[in-house]
Amino acid sequence: MPDVQPVLNFFVPVLQFPWLFALVISLSFSIGAALCALVVYRKQLIWQRETAERLEDNIQSRTLELQVALTELAEKNRALEEQNTLDALSGVRNRAYFDKKILAEMKRSRREQRPLALVMLDIDHFKQINDRHGHLAGDAVIRGVAQRIQALLKRSSDHVCRYGGEEFALILPNTDAEGVVALAEQIRQAIADTPFETEIGDLAVQISAGCYAVVAEADMVSSDYIQAADRALYQAKQQGRNQVQLAPAPESESDSVDAAPEPTEGTADESEL
Ligand code: GH3
Ligand code: MG
Ligand code: MG
Repeated sequence: MPDVQPVLNFFVPVLQFPWLFALVISLSFSIGAALCALVVYRKQLIWQRETAERLEDNIQSRTLELQVALTELAEKNRALEEQNTLDALSGVRNRAYFDKKILAEMKRSRREQRPLALVMLDIDHFKQINDRHGHLAGDAVIRGVAQRIQALLKRSSDHVCRYGGEEFALILPNTDAEGVVALAEQIRQAIADTPFETEIGDLAVQISAGCYAVVAEADMVSSDYIQAADRALYQAKQQGRNQVQLAPAPESESDSVDAAPEPTEGTADESEL
């Protein structure tokens, strides 16, 4: 039997004084309640910390997934934009790309004070190819010409664009008059020398080209380039086709192709068709 006397000794005076008893009881409850509150508070803190960590992990993995998705989306956008700049038939750049690119290259030419060259190139008597061999053969020739031009462009800054039906425009940054004529002549020869293989057999094709090469000036617009190269192309057509002509630089413009009428898009000699 445990000795309870000391406990009784403690409580007897307490019981003799009810207010002391009440004080001890209320103190015990208060301390108990405070301890409970402390434990609950601590548990709550731990739970909050764990929840915050879980949330942070979730956010991190979602952010990573989002970043991957955004990168994929950006790549798809880039591919789509690239696709939008291509001509469906020939696979080279399209007219919309040409319109933007020539403006950008004119700015660069002006900034760097380097000549920008443009070639307007048109297949000779293309209507006859269509009429004699059908439009599918004509399409094959357009594709073949585009590929042959593309294969001859060595610099990554050079661009061949399908300008219209059977016409191509070549944007050649940092290329002077001598250089553009040499390249256009090389292209002309490469096309004239080897017939194009089509489903209806080999087809001999020739092209005419008009070139223009100057350093772009502040007041110039893209149509200055296009019209000059077009005038030279018109001259090439007038002088018998299957040839390359160079439009004179602005200073000496008066002594050359002035007699040619103002060209429109595709400006081969339409009256001769
Ligand atoms: P020139 O030597 O003066 O250039 O004569 P051309 O017959 O080539 O002249 P023209 O520009 O009149 O002929 C172009 C023809 O190209 C007329 C058009 O029917 C045809 N054409 C335009 N786009 C396409 C195309 O995508 N596919 C095919 N097969 N033909 C096309
Ligand atoms: Mg033509
Ligand atoms: Mg034409």
